[in-house]
Amino acid sequence: MIRSELMKMKGYTPLDPVDRLGEEANLPPDKLIKLDGNENPYGCSPRVQAALGKLSIYNLYPDPEQKELRNLLSGYAGVGAEHIVMGAGSDELIDNILRVFLMPGDKVINCPPTFGMYQFSTEVCGGSVVNVRRRKDFDLDIPEIKRALDKYTRVIFIAAPNNPTGNPVRPSEVLELLKSNIMVVVDEAYFEFNRVTLAKQVPKNSNLIVLRTFSKWAGLAGLRVGYGIFPKDIAALIMKIKQPYNINIAAQVAATESLKDLTYLWGTVDALIKERTRLMAELKKLDWLTPYPSKANFILCRLADQNARELNHWLRAKGIFLRYFDTPLLQDCIRITVGKPEQMDAVLAALKEFHAQAG
Ligand SMILES: *Cc1c(COP(=O)(O)O)cnc(C)c1O
Repeated sequence: MIRSELMKMKGYTPLDPVDRLGEEANLPPDKLIKLDGNENPYGCSPRVQAALGKLSIYNLYPDPEQKELRNLLSGYAGVGAEHIVMGAGSDELIDNILRVFLMPGDKVINCPPTFGMYQFSTEVCGGSVVNVRRRKDFDLDIPEIKRALDKYTRVIFIAAPNNPTGNPVRPSEVLELLKSNIMVVVDEAYFEFNRVTLAKQVPKNSNLIVLRTFSKWAGLAGLRVGYGIFPKDIAALIMKIKQPYNINIAAQVAATESLKDLTYLWGTVDALIKERTRLMAELKKLDWLTPYPSKANFILCRLADQNARELNHWLRAKGIFLRYFDTPLLQDCIRITVGKPEQMDAVLAALKEFHAQAG
């Protein structure tokens, strides 16, 4: 009685938890250099820690209408609160969007290499993934996307900047795609590291959705809190079909405190952007790998004459965890999350050591 497409689907490859990584490298978790998940090494705002320490209302259900947060976010994102819905991570909103638009067999345009959740949630929701490969420089192939559209196409996902490649998307390309009648979902998970947004275009377009998250810039990946900016009618529908208490009390308090501590958080974002620039310059000096320009908090590198699997294995034994992709489109690629200066120094030293010993 099980849906046969679920038996066939591959599933998502999630990150290993930090204590498992510690066991693997035989090091305590605080000695690891964990740069595999685009997490924020500076952690969350100290206001979050303080507020959670004082929190004592765990026995009460949280606000199903997410009123305080949506109002605060309205100021942050520059759109009315009626356009905003919170999710348990933007991952949950990807699923909610597909539940709204997909009938069995309907098509979703995915532009690999990209974030794996678009394919995952499409398959879980009974949709069919249509892959339109990015060009060699990882730019979107707009003519091919347009050619792939048919009467069953419902949604296209565009990560801007893209994960794991780091390149931004030209807003004009998105506006071009909006001329079709499919839903265009622009995933701005790395907005704060790029500062280009289409959020203010949402109220003017009936088929544009922008997704954001507190996971990366605000250091709240572990509390699962993200949000979407939707056309008003779609926002109302997502409010209706979402799990009523999807933002738990801790996540609600943490996101609220983050929005009240923007000066601190922008400071950590600025430090990461500065380190991104330095890491890029240093990686460019290594003639055996090619770093791809990035507007996010990570840099993808392609190795020229070494095996990325071996490099990954070698670094892990030293307690340095990067993201290694074992897929045809990302052959011999590793993605380095931008971290603190001392973490970047350690990675650069280890890369040089690896190349020296591998010869
Ligand atoms: C990390 C990431 C997300 C996931 O965000 P959550 O809010 O933690 O679910 C979404 N989209 C992209 C492109 C990401 O890289």
